[in-house]
Amino acid sequence: MRCSRCRREAVFFQRYSGLALCAGHLRDDVEARARKEIRAEGGIRPGDRIAVVLSGSPESLTLAHFLCRTFAGRRDLSLLAVEGGRGGSSRRPAAETAARSPGMEWLPVREGGGAGSPAGDAPGDQEPAGGCTLSPAQPREVLADTAWRAGATVLAYGECLDDLAGQVLARVLRGEAPEVNRQPALRTLTPFRRIPGEEVRLYGQGIGVARGEPPCRAAGDGLEDLAASLLSDHASRHPSAPHALLRLWDSLAVPVEEGPGDRAARGGKGVGGNG
Ligand SMILES: [Zn+2]
Repeated sequence: MRCSRCRREAVFFQRYSGLALCAGHLRDDVEARARKEIRAEGGIRPGDRIAVVLSGSPESLTLAHFLCRTFAGRRDLSLLAVEGGRGGSSRRPAAETAARSPGMEWLPVREGGGAGSPAGDAPGDQEPAGGCTLSPAQPREVLADTAWRAGATVLAYGECLDDLAGQVLARVLRGEAPEVNRQPALRTLTPFRRIPGEEVRLYGQGIGVARGEPPCRAAGDGLEDLAASLLSDHASRHPSAPHALLRLWDSLAVPVEEGPGDRAARGGKGVGGNG
């Protein structure tokens, strides 16, 4: 299979677009779509302090590297990494190393919503013996609060299309509607929002991101797993289905009082938040 753009050997076939892409053109394509999504969600503004939710998952590590690549030349911006909701203390060393290697500040989150100092050496910062440190019901709030206290103006999540479309379907099955962002002072970005996870992981491998860890399974009613399985099965025959589901959810999100361009503040689109 040859790349549709340069005839080199393709590494990926985009079923929903009909394009075959080589490693270089997949990288360009993913980065162009991620930058477009950032602009659509309100963009990056001069002086922004961007907090990346870093769980140690391949997607979250890839987002950190993508943001470092994209904004390395912007001296007016700063990047920090917030310990992700489903990473858990057992994964903290890998996530912390991944944050510090490109020179990002590391901000651990403690159970109960407190945060250590940006240097991660707060006195009494005791870790549980392993597993997930955060309740799956509140990580988005906790992360937003932690980032906000550290002076962040933007919170960036590494979630990709499959994650978010699965969360939408689970919420539809529960009869839930999009909700309003509870931390409107902090803008949120999800640059990989419209990019399938497989493409994000291939892109990550292409720019040298470590494989990362699969997300920790959060306890719950099992609907996320059911929705993910239903959607994966359906999307194998209808590859546009996750895109359509997310567009539908966006159209249902209720606009709230917000600054210009803060589309992301609308209900946080009601899904996401685990890096
Ligand atoms: Zn190519």
